Amino acid sequence: MRGASASSGQPLQADLLGPEVRVRVLLPLPLREPYDYRVPAGMTLNPGDFVEVPLGPRRVIGVVWGDGAGAVESARLKAVVRRFDVPPMPEVGRRFVEWVAAYTMTMPGQVLRMAVSVPAALEPPKPTLAYLRKHDAEPPPGFKMTDPRKRVLALLDDGPPRTPAELAEEAGCGVAVVRGLAEAGLLEPVLLQPTKLGKPDWTREGPTLSGDQEAAAEELRQRVASGAYSTVLLDGVTGSGKTEVYYEAIAAALKQGKQALVLLPEIALSAQWLDRFARRFGAPPAEWHSELTGAQRRDTWRAVANGEVPVVVGARSALFLPYKDLGVIVIDEEHDAAYKQEEGAIYHARDMAVARAHLGGIPIVLVSATPSLETKVNADSNRYARIHLPGRHGGAVLPDVELIDLRKDRPPARHWLAPTLKKALEETLAEGEQAMLFLNRRGYAPLTLCRACGHRLQCPNCTAWLVEHRLARKLQCHHCGLSQPLAHSCPECGEEGTLAACGPGVERIFEEVAELFPDARSAIMASDTLFGPRAIQEMVRKITDHELDILIGTQVMAKGHHFPMLTLVGVVDADLGLAGGDLRAGERTYQLLHQVAGRAGRGQRPGRVMLQTYMPEHPVMQALAAGDRDGFYQLEAEMRLEAGMPPFGRLAALIVSGEDSVAVERVAMALGRAAPRSETVHVLGPAPAPLALLRGRHRRRLLLKAPRTTQVQPLIARWLEDVEVPPNVRVQVDVDPYSFL
Ligand code: ADP
Ligand code: ZN
Repeated sequence: MRGASASSGQPLQADLLGPEVRVRVLLPLPLREPYDYRVPAGMTLNPGDFVEVPLGPRRVIGVVWGDGAGAVESARLKAVVRRFDVPPMPEVGRRFVEWVAAYTMTMPGQVLRMAVSVPAALEPPKPTLAYLRKHDAEPPPGFKMTDPRKRVLALLDDGPPRTPAELAEEAGCGVAVVRGLAEAGLLEPVLLQPTKLGKPDWTREGPTLSGDQEAAAEELRQRVASGAYSTVLLDGVTGSGKTEVYYEAIAAALKQGKQALVLLPEIALSAQWLDRFARRFGAPPAEWHSELTGAQRRDTWRAVANGEVPVVVGARSALFLPYKDLGVIVIDEEHDAAYKQEEGAIYHARDMAVARAHLGGIPIVLVSATPSLETKVNADSNRYARIHLPGRHGGAVLPDVELIDLRKDRPPARHWLAPTLKKALEETLAEGEQAMLFLNRRGYAPLTLCRACGHRLQCPNCTAWLVEHRLARKLQCHHCGLSQPLAHSCPECGEEGTLAACGPGVERIFEEVAELFPDARSAIMASDTLFGPRAIQEMVRKITDHELDILIGTQVMAKGHHFPMLTLVGVVDADLGLAGGDLRAGERTYQLLHQVAGRAGRGQRPGRVMLQTYMPEHPVMQALAAGDRDGFYQLEAEMRLEAGMPPFGRLAALIVSGEDSVAVERVAMALGRAAPRSETVHVLGPAPAPLALLRGRHRRRLLLKAPRTTQVQPLIARWLEDVEVPPNVRVQVDVDPYSFL
């Protein structure tokens, strides 16, 4: 070590007469190591400080990681340019970056990038120029209303003022387009003040809790007050008051002057959650997700670092915010697949959150009515504590689940609702109640087939069929986003009018509902029919206010919503999730259908759930019908144990991809030959991935399977060292894979 030592707690200060002082600075770039920089005279740096440093011709932001290593000779050493006036990244945040990098086998700089995702937040806050539409203004003579200009104006018809950069991005045009509109007097400039962030008030009274709820809340309060690490599973059926109970853990953290973080699987869909939080605490929490504007992002990041934000609710990326003093983490719907990030750094936010809680010495609460098998097993073996809420609040009963055997109770040709379900819908409408039809498939039909030659419309870039979206008059690939107009003739044989839609998507069910119940008010709720949180909020309001009778939706509808008049849930294709047959297909189908079923009968009226299936004898269907959750988990656990699969064994996947299929194959084969193999460690593959072509890239997979006690990261690191990978091929490591596509 040179200069003053960071680990001894001394600041790293340059002294003109003393020895040269160096620091290691981690940059948010795909770099394996922090780089050394010189501390210029007059500057004092501490570990965690945010700094600007030169890198080649550029200047980049970085974080002081510790003392310089001395690897670079003094003459070539560059100096830190400046230190930003923001609180340093706390020690626990830095250890977390390192931990995530090591666990997921991602470069630390890449993980750091998630923690310094808003460079603008490092600068002192200043009002930002934004624009509104000036409604009474006419374009000056000769001003051409080009498409990009129209798009910008259309954007501004709806929503808050936005900065030129945001408008350009949303409208898919250059900033010059926005400037042109402003110069033509069509936009109203406004100065945005820093985002107002509410101060939730923990002293407000919550509802009177039931005995079980109070016991659960008290246990959580004590854990938060103790300020020690623990993981607790808060387990209880939907409607048992889990949210109410974990609000008490949040209140306990605020009481201590600490911050609280709540992760939700789909924050953009959680308007009801936000309203409810605001009613309980008198102010909204700070949000963190992809729908925020740049200014909100900047102000929130800064306020979290300053400790001015007591509660953050967010998507998985909220884990990487620079909390000044985090006191508790809550992971709602902890079993949800959305917590797995599949791009860039591949990580599971729930698992990383447990590590974050451990590093920070704080409690974490995992909340679910249908925990992941991982969490369930950890709770059964007392690695995690468990708090159980036995019944629905206020005596609301769980809905009855009936199976509809589609082999016997058959819908008419080119229809998808069985007579029994149709009858139940009639009864529900007659009672003046609401129904929901669930089908986890967007669009009109998942496959379009030529009746003349048998050709199937396929994505040219992916191993996937094109999905017809009749409302948008498009064929779309759900993997790469390719979108093309509906075809009138077969691209293969050229016949006209021979293309036939096969199978249903929500749009087709909507059509069937309109035919069966012409007087019912129905609507589709899917991620591509509802643009953004406002549209979802409006839809949720319409349902709550009973402006709709039948709702047809995908899983965006399954999550968290509470509709008192909804008494019938029909699952159009309960078998859908089982088709792929991957490791967790049964578990995921059970969780999803259980959650969908939980939408029924949440108010005073009892609910009914009907599952349409071709496999009524399947254990998932049987468990759902019998309401036997633990029996299902038991069976699932036995199967996994037998097969040595997670959570009883470990998996890691390598995904080899590239545009050049020969190069990809060569690397995959080399990895196959170099694979670590032993009595206990097995490597399967290489094999073409189920999505063998994705966004124009060819893909091969290898799967490493090892006992639970094996540390797979060093094995994989050695494995990768043995194989040369050319620049046109990428090898991604996915530790604990959830997707096998
Ligand atoms: P969960 O999170 O387990 O699904 P919630 O916390 O959402 O359950 O509770 C379900 C419904 O019951 C909500 O509308 C909630 O406000 C209400 N509720 C739960 N517990 C109480 C209570 N003790 N007093 C009043 N309302 C409650
Ligand atoms: Zn595609």
